[in-house]
Amino acid sequence: MVKVGDEFIVRIETLNHQAQGIARIDGYVVFVDYALPDELLKIRIIEAKKEYGRAEIVEIVEKNPHRKKPECPVYYECGGCHLMHASYNYQLEIKKMLVEDAFKRIGKLSPKINPVIGMENPFRYRNKVQFPVGKDKNGIKIGFYKKMTHEIVPTSFCLIQHEDSDKVIEAMARIIKKYEIEVYNENLHTGVLRHIMVRRSFAFDEMMILLVCTKVPDRIEDIKNELVSTFPNLKSLYVNINNKKTNVILGEKDILIWGSPNIKDKIGNLLFEISPKSFFQVNTIQTEKLYNQVVKFLKEVGGKIIFDLYSGIGTISMFVSPFCEKVYAIEIVKEAVEDAKKSSLKNGITNVEFILADAEKEIQKLIKKGIVPDTVILDPPRKGCEKELLESLIATKVKNIIYVSCNPSTLARDAKIMADGGYEVIEVQPVDMFSQTYHVENVTLFRKRE
Ligand code: SAH
Repeated sequence: MVKVGDEFIVRIETLNHQAQGIARIDGYVVFVDYALPDELLKIRIIEAKKEYGRAEIVEIVEKNPHRKKPECPVYYECGGCHLMHASYNYQLEIKKMLVEDAFKRIGKLSPKINPVIGMENPFRYRNKVQFPVGKDKNGIKIGFYKKMTHEIVPTSFCLIQHEDSDKVIEAMARIIKKYEIEVYNENLHTGVLRHIMVRRSFAFDEMMILLVCTKVPDRIEDIKNELVSTFPNLKSLYVNINNKKTNVILGEKDILIWGSPNIKDKIGNLLFEISPKSFFQVNTIQTEKLYNQVVKFLKEVGGKIIFDLYSGIGTISMFVSPFCEKVYAIEIVKEAVEDAKKSSLKNGITNVEFILADAEKEIQKLIKKGIVPDTVILDPPRKGCEKELLESLIATKVKNIIYVSCNPSTLARDAKIMADGGYEVIEVQPVDMFSQTYHVENVTLFRKRE
């Protein structure tokens, strides 16, 4: 029996879907944090469940040649990044392997998977961050949650964020003290300030700050003045009200305290208006490469009538609009659809119809009206598509489906449903949108078998 505290020498076979090393002790599977394939490690068991265990590295006996020292000093405490101990090229190889594994294990498929499209500079790429705020005996803490806990690891910078968000941490630490803002205590459910969210445009010198609070802080006028004078590029300041006992970061209500309701950013030549609740890909630079891949597949398969399901603020719809007659963009968040309409006007795009609806219900309606797509683009949240939606698509016999996914596991699950429904996976193009983490985005082209 493997017990917590036991130590073993193991060889890492491969990585699991969260890029943890997999080792076996007499058949018992152990996941080893921060391990790399083929390494020989001395490990210590930190969790021993019936089905599997977790371990930490005590000593690296034989190291993978791609192992390197992580650039971030809090990398091993903070749960935000997972692969900073591997060279960047090797990170890309690992991600390709994770996609292959997911297709094989979950989808029972072995499609053509291209090398991952990487970044030139895989740091400082994120345009959005949410810092939890808390307090302990040493004082105020702003930072990130420690892996699998709600303990805050304080940090004054984050290497995958835009530099401006470091400056916001610094300014808010000062402002919290100066105006005696009571920070939230998760256990007691007391206090005011819970999270600080920053969105920073890459194309424009514009920033949005959103303070997630249980109520509007008493000295909001002073806080506003201080932030406005500290950040000449602050374009928009919100308080979001979240007074529930919940892990969900944002509450329902956004109160605009100062400035414009939106900030804008650009992908390629297109301009986008972004509000607090709208989904906008976090890596602006790679998003252009991602959408270009969607366009590439669309040009290969052609198609006049396109459905863009899960369309967010209409980014993909607008990107593909020059290459087809009409796009029907379907999105369930009201603010996102409003942003999409504003942006399409600014971009002079007239062949996209933005529909506020549940994708599954709306496609039925459109098809009943006789509007049948030639190609469907899907870009669902991490949980993937509802089975009913895929079944409806299979029933329409639509020829081509371009599936954009940020989760290889749900992509593979959905690919199996599509394959069983008569579709072939033609090509998978992974794109690295989340460098230093195990996450990987994929664009997959499906075609109906003749
Ligand atoms: N295609 C966009 C957004 C992708 S994120 C982009 O590239 O930026 C997924 C989007 O699906 C989110 O905007 C979310 O609000 C939306 N969504 C989630 N469930 C939905 C549903 N049932 N019907 C329509 N949209 C949904």
